[in-house]
Amino acid sequence: MGQHGQPGSVGRHEIPPRSGVAFTLDRGRRLTVIDPQGEQVADLVAFRRDDIDEVISSGRTLDYAGRLFLTAGDPLYSNRSTVLLRIVEDTVGRHDFLLTPCSADTFRILYDDPHPHRGCFGNLAEALAAFGIGPDRIPVAFNVFMNVAVDGTTGTLRVDPPLSRAGDRVTFAAETDLIIGLTACSAPQSNNFAFKPIHYVIE
Ligand SMILES: [Zn+2]
Repeated sequence: MGQHGQPGSVGRHEIPPRSGVAFTLDRGRRLTVIDPQGEQVADLVAFRRDDIDEVISSGRTLDYAGRLFLTAGDPLYSNRSTVLLRIVEDTVGRHDFLLTPCSADTFRILYDDPHPHRGCFGNLAEALAAFGIGPDRIPVAFNVFMNVAVDGTTGTLRVDPPLSRAGDRVTFAAETDLIIGLTACSAPQSNNFAFKPIHYVIE
């Protein structure tokens, strides 16, 4: 798969399994996140480029949407209620916007792993450092293709295999100049216990 210039350049890029990237995305550009093999999650975070105190907000977005599952047509709001991204195309229709990026602590606490991988959180922290964004600023990510089932009565959450098949995609339109962090997720359960790459296209 041709990685094609810098991570933020126009074209198609690959994120290897259990890794992540950060790049700028100009207003008016489109970012398409592709699951090339199927059943692979990508965590996406977004910051306003000219003021990194403004960041994608799960709470604002779900509040204004009035539901947990977002798809084509839905805006993704910031902590200041600005639309940062809008979902313009979605071939799957099931993503998560509740759970934080997986991390070494996730693997230690949920899975008792004594030597945990740094997870999406560690991958995002390293990639975003180049933009002056420290780890404590990393918000709840929009977890593309992540399939979290919610029991409507008890609120119990269950992480199921993604519904995405090879070639499924979600396209986001940038409504302002952004810094994007994007991963190929590292959590076993979220990805049906196989770590695969993620592709993305900027146009
Ligand atoms: Zn992850």
